[in-house]
Amino acid sequence: MNMKQDEYLEALWRLHEQEKNSVEDLQTALNAPVERDVLDGLTSDRMAEYDGELRKVRLTEKGLAYALDLVRKHRLAERLLHDVLRVRGEGFESEACTFEHLVAPQVVEGICTLLGHPRECPHGLPIPEGECCRRSEQTISTSVVYLAQLEVGEVGQVAYIDCQDDAQLHRLNGLQFKPGVEVKLHQKYPAYVVECEGGIIAIDEWIAKRILLWKQRGRGVYEDGAVPHVPEKPARKRFWRRGRRYGTFTRE
Ligand SMILES: [Zn+2]
Ligand SMILES: [Zn+2]
Ligand SMILES: [Zn+2]
Repeated sequence: MNMKQDEYLEALWRLHEQEKNSVEDLQTALNAPVERDVLDGLTSDRMAEYDGELRKVRLTEKGLAYALDLVRKHRLAERLLHDVLRVRGEGFESEACTFEHLVAPQVVEGICTLLGHPRECPHGLPIPEGECCRRSEQTISTSVVYLAQLEVGEVGQVAYIDCQDDAQLHRLNGLQFKPGVEVKLHQKYPAYVVECEGGIIAIDEWIAKRILLWKQRGRGVYEDGAVPHVPEKPARKRFWRRGRRYGTFTRE
């Protein structure tokens, strides 16, 4: 399959989702005139069936399986670009399409897991399930949630930081919330207090609403039932508020 054929297969998948099958619908989905030789190529590869008289076109079983994989990669790439890399506007679509041709299947699974097996792309279209999504449903209930959504006593690992604003991100980078770091929520009011890297940190609510965590099952208990390690030394208190000793963190 070449890039052009892939583009057609993705468009045909969108038609399949909308239960449409005319050549005119394909033209609308492509936003370009339908090229007959591309359709013929897909037909001879048994990816699509094309009826020239009725001007109908649709994916075969083989074409559906192939297109599902393409669309899954495309929509996961959109989520990655949108949520983690914060790419917006121009270039967004073409970046997602480039991405789907570059990544290996294992990398796709890794990205899907990082993002918490998302069900929809940023446009609200469904992301087809992969093996990793089915496995995660059967085995563990790991999900990605905002720190602010944890209950007191719960533990999570930092997945990524959702922050549109460079100034905010810069300030967040001053804290210990690096991807992979474990965070335990101690209290929510009057401020969020979390344990992180052996320290106790008070943070404002807006920060708790920017940090995404992989949440583990149960209240502060790992999947195998073990209780998370608690540092023996009393943790040093650090506050990130203006006027306090350790920083100049303030509400926006
Ligand atoms: Zn694409
Ligand atoms: Zn999308
Ligand atoms: Zn998945």
